[in-house]
Amino acid sequence: MSKATDPATLLKGLAQSLSSGAIRVIDLTHTLDPDFPVIVLPPEFGQCARFRMEEVSAYDHRGPAWKWNNFTCSEHTGTHFDAPVHWVSGRDLPDNCVDTIPVDKFVGPACVIDCSDGASKDDDFELTPEIITAWEAEHGQIPEDAWVLMRTDWSKRRGDAYLNMREDGPHSPGPTPEAVRLLVEERGIRGFGTETVGTDAGQGMHYTPPYPAHYILHGAGRYGLQCLNNLDRLPATGALICAAPLKIKQGTGSPLRVLALVTDDGGEP
Ligand code: MN
Repeated sequence: MSKATDPATLLKGLAQSLSSGAIRVIDLTHTLDPDFPVIVLPPEFGQCARFRMEEVSAYDHRGPAWKWNNFTCSEHTGTHFDAPVHWVSGRDLPDNCVDTIPVDKFVGPACVIDCSDGASKDDDFELTPEIITAWEAEHGQIPEDAWVLMRTDWSKRRGDAYLNMREDGPHSPGPTPEAVRLLVEERGIRGFGTETVGTDAGQGMHYTPPYPAHYILHGAGRYGLQCLNNLDRLPATGALICAAPLKIKQGTGSPLRVLALVTDDGGEP
């Protein structure tokens, strides 16, 4: 093994590059805030809780020298991770909860497919196999065990425009079943991430199977990331993603801080 590729040398170089700014850290996370929308299901189903914070003390009679808060939220509130056990298709898989997923799965490369132009013109924009293969013609084949992130610039929306609810339910972009199958079965991706409230399109219930990203990803033991931010600051290839959920016993998901390491040249080959 040459010195340049010796793991200890690589790790030392990474630390130096982070220190010098040659490698930058980009925050792909929204702030946990009671106003940030959560997914809303039809009223006959149980509902996901928004983030709530309660002050325990603030340098006062409840605690003169310290300030701290209690908070509550769903496992699926804000920028969050979906584990395979989240969906019925992944319920019996091994290591399917956030506390049992091998930790090396929390650090890995990301490919970013820019769908922002299409999503700006069509709230129900679909990521299709044709878009994926066109992306690969430009950037190379998606490597095995990579995150694939669907950029839509949906993270720039505020208030009601984020869920974009209409009488027939939410309208937001997402992948077709064929696109998810290509990514999971032929490319062997680690997971799929979006800027919207779910990995599936707002109208994803109308596909076969319903909610194909959830059904196919989690049925194959793969992961989801939702409510991502700042995907417009990532290169198409070359970013390294750190996405480690909280270690909740048998947890189905977790809010988390998602960080991307990028180089100034964008890491493009
Ligand atoms: Mn979720």
